[in-house]
Parts: sequence; C-alpha cells; structure tokens
Amino acid sequence: MAGEPIDLRTHVPHSARIYDYLLGGKDNYPADRSAAHEIIKDWVNLPRSMRANRDFMRRVTRHLAEQEGLRQFLDIGTGLPTAPNLHEVAQEVAPESRVVYVDNDPVVLVHARALLVGSPEGRTTYLEADFHEPEAILASGELRETLDLDRPVALSLIAILQFVVDDRVAADVIGRLMEPLAPGSVLALSTVTADSAPEEVAGGVAAYNARGIPTKARGRAEVERFFAGLDLLPPGVVLVNHWRPDGLAASVPDAHVHMYGGAARKT
Ligand code: SAH
Repeated sequence: MAGEPIDLRTHVPHSARIYDYLLGGKDNYPADRSAAHEIIKDWVNLPRSMRANRDFMRRVTRHLAEQEGLRQFLDIGTGLPTAPNLHEVAQEVAPESRVVYVDNDPVVLVHARALLVGSPEGRTTYLEADFHEPEAILASGELRETLDLDRPVALSLIAILQFVVDDRVAADVIGRLMEPLAPGSVLALSTVTADSAPEEVAGGVAAYNARGIPTKARGRAEVERFFAGLDLLPPGVVLVNHWRPDGLAASVPDAHVHMYGGAARKT
C-alpha cells in the first residue's frame, strides 16, 4: 500500500463522508455535502439519530470492557475519526485493549493514522477491507498480529448493516465472522429502523438510494434475527437511546432516534 496513489473517488458521495459531514466533521467533499443536504430534507433528525448512535457505541464499548471484561475489539464499518473513537473508550477502561478497525472507504484509510494512536500498552490496527469478505478480514495479518482468536473478541458492527440491504447476506456474513470467535465473544450492532419515525426515515432511505447508496431500514424482529444463536444481553434490541442509557441518552426523544441496537454473547 505504501506509496501507491489512492483513488478517493471524491466526485461520488460516500456514506462515511456524508456521516462525517452530518456529525460536523471536515473530512468530506462537495458531492458528500450535496447528498447530505438532499437526504436531510426528508430525514431532518438524521444528525441527531447519528449522534445517539455514536453515543450507543461509546456506552456499549464501555460496558463490554468494564462488565464483560473484553480486551479485544474488531470494529467493522469504523467511519472517520470522531471523538471519542472506540479504542479510546476501550483503552480508557483497560489500556491493554487491542483494537482492529476495518472500513472499505479509502478516505477512512487516509485518516486511519488518526485512529492508530492508541495507548502504549495496547494496540490499534487498521485494515482496509469489505464486510462482505469476512474470511479475508479474519485471515489478515493485521488481525492475526493484533487479536488472539483463542480469547473472546467484541465484534462491533455499528451503523453499517443499513448499507447491507439483503438480510440473508448480512446474517450469513455475521455468522461467518462469529464462527471462529471464542466463547465469551460478543456481537454488538446497530442499524437503521423506521419504527420510531416511519415517514421521515422512509423518505431519507429513499434519498440515500436515489444517490446510489443502497440503504435499508429494518423492524425490530429483523434486527433480532441478526443475533440468532447468541444470548442477548439485557435490555435486548431497543432504540439505541434505551440501551443502558446514562445521563445524555436518557433525555433524547424516541422520535429523533432511528437506530436499533443490541449486544449478545456467544456461549
Ligand atoms: N461505526 C461508525 C461509522 C458508521 S458509518 C459509527 O457508528 O459512528 C458506516 C461506515 O461503514 C462508513 O465508514 C462506511 O465506509 C463503512 N462501510 C459501508 N459499507 C461497508 C462495507 N461493505 N465494508 C466495510 N465498510 C463499509
């Protein structure tokens, strides 16, 4: 990879950069900003929903580190760096935590060095790869040098599955990612739902699709099926603001939160 030019395809809107723009970041281009403005004409609370989702990532990661004792994290669909990043949350609890970040957007790759400044005791690695190729992720040198698959791993799929529109494909890949992980490993995920704001989210999802980014909203039962064969941790699959809320999450109205989230343990 070193020295090779990277085609960022900045003329095409990309989910990572739309998301970055809506969260107030600077790593985005005119095509992303124009798509973002079109999308939020319908999906007015999308930025709030994304912030609630980001806060879920923080709480679930902290919970897995503090309460489940997890020290290894595989985060697929990382997104652009934004505070706090997952490794910062995990390493604040346990500095020895090891994190592998995976994303398929070359712009995330360019900024990955900002993700790689982990604690000296722990380790943080970045891999450019696609969710649809789980064996390539699991067999990669980056992952093998960072994670010990004989010990439990937290697999996080935070706000990526709405872009994997075929339920069977999503479930199949999740199964292939979880299969080699040790008992005690946990799957934590969040994905888009229209249940809390049907018209708004339907319009927003249509706008994403119209911009060439296949996107799907799911009902609670569809999201629960992604955890098949695993033991859901309380409170189960809920709007992300209801997942073990602390001060901030408890005050967010449901109508502004368009993500279901949950976490489940492999036994
Ligand atoms: N997890 C972060 C970012 C979510 S945005 C958060 O919740 O804040 C979704 C991310 O998934 C983007 O960075 C996008 O580039 C990435 N992504 C989308 N499809 C992907 C795929 N097939 N493989 C890997 N990453 C993907």
